[in-house]
Amino acid sequence: MRGVVFTGERGLELMDFPDPTPDAHDVVIEMKASGMCGTDLHQYRRPKGQTAVAGIQAKEGPVIVGHEPCGVVVAIGTAVDAREARIGQRVMVHHYQGCTQCNQCRSGWQQLCQEVPVKVYGNNEHGGHTKYLKVPANTLVPLPDELSFSAGAAIACGSGTAYSALRRIGVSGNDTLAIFGQGPVGLAATQYAKAMGAKVIALDISQPRLERAKAFGADEVVNPGSTDPVAAIKELTHGRFADLTLDTSGNPEARLNAIRSVKVWGTMCFVGEGGEVHIDVSPLLLRRQLTLVASWTFSNVIQADCARFSVERGIDVDKLFTHRWNIEQADEAYKVFDKQVDGKGVFLI
Ligand SMILES: [Zn+2]
Ligand SMILES: [Zn+2]
Repeated sequence: MRGVVFTGERGLELMDFPDPTPDAHDVVIEMKASGMCGTDLHQYRRPKGQTAVAGIQAKEGPVIVGHEPCGVVVAIGTAVDAREARIGQRVMVHHYQGCTQCNQCRSGWQQLCQEVPVKVYGNNEHGGHTKYLKVPANTLVPLPDELSFSAGAAIACGSGTAYSALRRIGVSGNDTLAIFGQGPVGLAATQYAKAMGAKVIALDISQPRLERAKAFGADEVVNPGSTDPVAAIKELTHGRFADLTLDTSGNPEARLNAIRSVKVWGTMCFVGEGGEVHIDVSPLLLRRQLTLVASWTFSNVIQADCARFSVERGIDVDKLFTHRWNIEQADEAYKVFDKQVDGKGVFLI
């Protein structure tokens, strides 16, 4: 089978790999959709020879990328229980494997395991940009029949991350929420926050992305490239500022503006990866009784909840995708995604 490998500094190669066979506790999934996610760009752009990306240690040798895998189970290991997986089952992958036995792992948060180096499928273990993917059966999350494979791919990271962050900060119909960044995660946050009843102020420096945010239900849009976002949010909230703010961009200035534009007693949530932020603690945090929240992806249970919520509320997850590619177009696909002006991309396999 052919798989997509990042070689550093925006280099990408399609390499040949043997088709995997399952070990005792594994399954093999025939990939149907494999999404492109913002954190893939950190890997794609990494300097050649750099051994860790966003705090995750890389593995020796070529690794197939793609951490939003979704497909059908085609082979099952000898020790896999019939309740865990069956041939032909439509599945997403919770793309992490820890020790499986600590409290983090047993509560469905294998990415938080402190006992062993965590395997991240599509980062330091083979991922979904290929034909077949071997993963432990305990990483599977069933895909409801009502959702497409590409919707499942989005929920397997980008959309699931947005949904999980909104749950962590307890978004409700009482809240005005400002979302900094309207890339795939920010736009999904706009989509889910509207379904949860919030008033949404969407921010991005790309005008096409703001247009899409409007189409996804954003009540107000602000372009920080041409308008002071803190002043704009103050005005839109009649001087009160937002109840909650969310940064999906990872940009230091956007992070600070998200802190500055939340109300007294408000909550600001970090979702965007990488980099730093310098916070003047007394005026920005202490004097305003602020709560800062960090939210990294989701548990396998929340992933399933996100899928169920999407079905029950009629969320059009597929609407996030502006580009559909085949694996042989991977080089072009990542060149387009690297510009960060369009919507989300997915490989259909
Ligand atoms: Zn563990
Ligand atoms: Zn991701």
